[in-house]
Order: sequence, then structure tokens, then C-alpha cells
Amino acid sequence: MRRGWLLIPGAALLAAGLADLLGRAAGWGALGPGDRTSPRVALTFDDGPGERTGELLAVLARHGAAATFFVTAPACAAHPDLLRAMGEAGHEIEAHGRWHTHALHLPPWREWAQVQWHPRATEPGPHLYRPPYGGHGPLTRLLARLARRQVALWDVEGRDWTAAPAADLAAQTLARTRPGSVILLHDGPSVTPELLGRLLVGLRERGLAPVLLRDLPPRRIGWREGLRRVRASYGR
Ligand SMILES: [Zn+2]
Repeated sequence: MRRGWLLIPGAALLAAGLADLLGRAAGWGALGPGDRTSPRVALTFDDGPGERTGELLAVLARHGAAATFFVTAPACAAHPDLLRAMGEAGHEIEAHGRWHTHALHLPPWREWAQVQWHPRATEPGPHLYRPPYGGHGPLTRLLARLARRQVALWDVEGRDWTAAPAADLAAQTLARTRPGSVILLHDGPSVTPELLGRLLVGLRERGLAPVLLRDLPPRRIGWREGLRRVRASYGR
């Protein structure tokens, strides 16, 4: 009897691990990179708008580049002027959640509200949702489908949350970038504006044009790409 009770947390852990593997790591069924033969990439910024948004918009304007911002509801409420500035500059604005909370910490009814929230909810779609920390599972995918949202991930991380210098981060990011890549950056870290400037120079040297995510466009992650992602996230 006592051993039976231990099975419950064990099964919950196993389910959480499996959801993490299928959802976050493999990303099967979510949107990932675009056409690998077309010389375009998408630069994406999570977590804004915030104190760094102005600098990012200035760097993008200087290079005549387009980007996609995945914004959260609290950040939009705190900085409506910056949200407007993103849109007026021609950048794409998509959802990063009503709360910046990992899906595993949201009961289903809260995850429904999380997935449904979108800064352009009244405009015609498609509407993309990028889960905080990339954390999502089959339930997220189902809720997104019901809410007419598409889960959008990435294939290259700028790693701008680490303490590494911008030059090193730019070199590592460019080494992993291929045609069709969706590059994950953040609207917040102090290193990101300089990193962005270096990336834009490097992308131009490689003949890769930064476009809005909707113009890439991202493709659904299939079995092969999913396996590659699992290997990259657990085997590196
Ligand atoms: Zn985030």
C-alpha cells in the first residue's frame, strides 16, 4: 500500500519528463526553422518590451533589418509605448504568454488563458505563441489548436543570458546559423544590442537576409528534425 503511493509521484515525474522530451526538446508538431535552401533567417526576441527595447530597435533600424518580438502581457502593460514603437517600425509582434511561467507549473485552465492571450488577438491571424522557456507538451499543442494559435520555437540560441562577451556569442551563434534558421535572442540582457549588431554584420557577410518570422515562414517540425533537436539538447 505504502509502495503504491510512491508510484504516483514517480508516474508524475515520468509524465513530466516525457512531456518535456516530446514538447520542449523534440518540438514535434510545433513551428521550427523555415526552408533550408532559401537564404533567409528570422531574428526573434523574447520577454519584452522593456528597458532594452529602444536600443534593439535602434540597431535594427541602423541595419534596415526586420525582427519578431515575442512579448508577455505584464511587459506590454508596463510599456505600451515601446510595444507601439515595435509595430510602427514594421516588426512582427507575437505572444510569449500572459505569464512568464513554464507550462509544467500551470494547471490546464491557467494554461488555456496563457495560450489564448495575444497582443494582436483582435487582428486576423495567424497568431504565434512561444511558450516561456520553450516549455510545452501535448496539452499545450491541443490548447493552442483550440485557441487558433501556433506554437513557434527556434533552432539557434543566441545564449545572451550567459555572461560571455558579445563577440564570442556572435561567433557561436553564426556558426550554428543556416538558411531558414530561427534565432532566439532576448529583449532584456545588456549584451543583446551589441550581439545583435555583430549578428547583423555576420549575416550580411554570409548572404543571409533577416526577415519577419511570418515571411520566413517557419515550418512544422517533423520526426527527423525532432530527433536532431533531442540529440542537440540532451547529448551536447
Ligand atoms: Zn522568455
